[in-house]
Amino acid sequence: MSFKNIGLLCSGGDSPGMNCAIRAVVRTALFHGIKVTGIKRGYSGILNKEFIPMNLSSVGNIIQRGGTILQTSRCPEWLHPEHRKKGVELLRAQGIDALVIIGGDGSFNGAKSLWDEHQFPVIGIPGTIDNDISGTDYTIGFDTAVQTAIEAVDRIRDTAHSHARTFLVEVMGRNSSAIALKVGVCTGAENILLPHETVDHQKIFDDIKRGMKRGKDSSIVIVAEGPVAGRSYDIQKVLKEKYQLDAHVAILGHVQRGGSPSANDRFIASQMGNLAVEALMKKQFPVVTVETSGKVGLAPLEDCITKANNNFIEFQNLAQTLSI
Ligand code: ATP
Repeated sequence: MSFKNIGLLCSGGDSPGMNCAIRAVVRTALFHGIKVTGIKRGYSGILNKEFIPMNLSSVGNIIQRGGTILQTSRCPEWLHPEHRKKGVELLRAQGIDALVIIGGDGSFNGAKSLWDEHQFPVIGIPGTIDNDISGTDYTIGFDTAVQTAIEAVDRIRDTAHSHARTFLVEVMGRNSSAIALKVGVCTGAENILLPHETVDHQKIFDDIKRGMKRGKDSSIVIVAEGPVAGRSYDIQKVLKEKYQLDAHVAILGHVQRGGSPSANDRFIASQMGNLAVEALMKKQFPVVTVETSGKVGLAPLEDCITKANNNFIEFQNLAQTLSI
């Protein structure tokens, strides 16, 4: 059987570069004479029948735009087998015979169920700023989010220096350490607080004091947000109460999700979108397009449905060595 109509959706959090992947899927499929149906707002769009036929111009002028033209959502109904069964019926009624899902590990779990329960052909493309999917070294959006955060921290450093201040800068990534570590190394942060570590307030204070003794005017502490954003305020409170240290808090938040994708994100997303369609044509599914050792390739879907351990001890050591 060759595929006639590929369904395409984004699911979970949006990330810069998703549009480049959408464009690459649509253009590659149309190049090979395969139809593409865009599905709005993730798995919810299947259940709500939000199907839109995609043509060459549907994906014109989007390569440079952040977010996703298909929009995305979290769809609690998809956790239940009866809704997935209904979803498959709706897809088939629409003539859709395969599905490409751009999203994170949660979204890939949703895809795996479709394959396991209904043998519906699925391909995943990793799209999340958190870079935390098992089986791939890279997820679309990470590079842009890191660059956005670096630019923000550089600006904060300017004012921190002018006023000789300490800043706690909270970056996104929930339980993922990836953004915090890379931003910390690239901004010369004095300290990086990772989500899985207990906060050592004494060490933060000692590091800052040591820096000041040797003439530093400012200190930047990068705080990974962890499960609930805003933990920087708790750290700020303890530093004030226990050590009389005034620290300012800057929570970067959703600015890190938006903006024009970097060259790296555009290039990887373009390759992944292209490869997803080629994999379907070769009947290679269920798989995920991945990047390993700098090369884009395919991995079995089941290798990509958990969170990656991205605590990167080597980068922690690097950050520590360079921030003495
Ligand atoms: P991000 O990393 O940006 O949060 P994600 O894909 O991991 O992306 P989730 O919120 O975990 O985001 O999942 C997105 C959607 O995927 C869920 O709202 C749900 O519709 C579906 N999904 C998640 N986990 C499962 C599962 N175990 N079974 C079926 N569907 C799931």
